[in-house]
Amino acid sequence: MSTTRQEIMALLSEGEYGAKDISKIIRISEKEVYTHLEHINRSLKSRKMMLKITPAVCLTCGFTFEARNRFSSPGRCPKCKGEHIQDPKYVI
Ligand SMILES: [Zn+2]
Repeated sequence: MSTTRQEIMALLSEGEYGAKDISKIIRISEKEVYTHLEHINRSLKSRKMMLKITPAVCLTCGFTFEARNRFSSPGRCPKCKGEHIQDPKYVI
């Protein structure tokens, strides 16, 4: 397991963070954060633990992005086409 991944896991066991927050704190790109989150999710499952995900929400109409791939951040709301999306947040 890489040090970066351990840092993310330590961060997420302390509180809830979005991918943008994680990328700023750990100093890696948002894309890398998603890759790490997928691996973290898998390794947690094998230890009977869970990465809890608060789904992305449209700040304009309140639409919740539950069905889509929750490891990536949606760009646009399918309901109102708004772009003010609250990114998904992760916690262990
Ligand atoms: Zn919307």
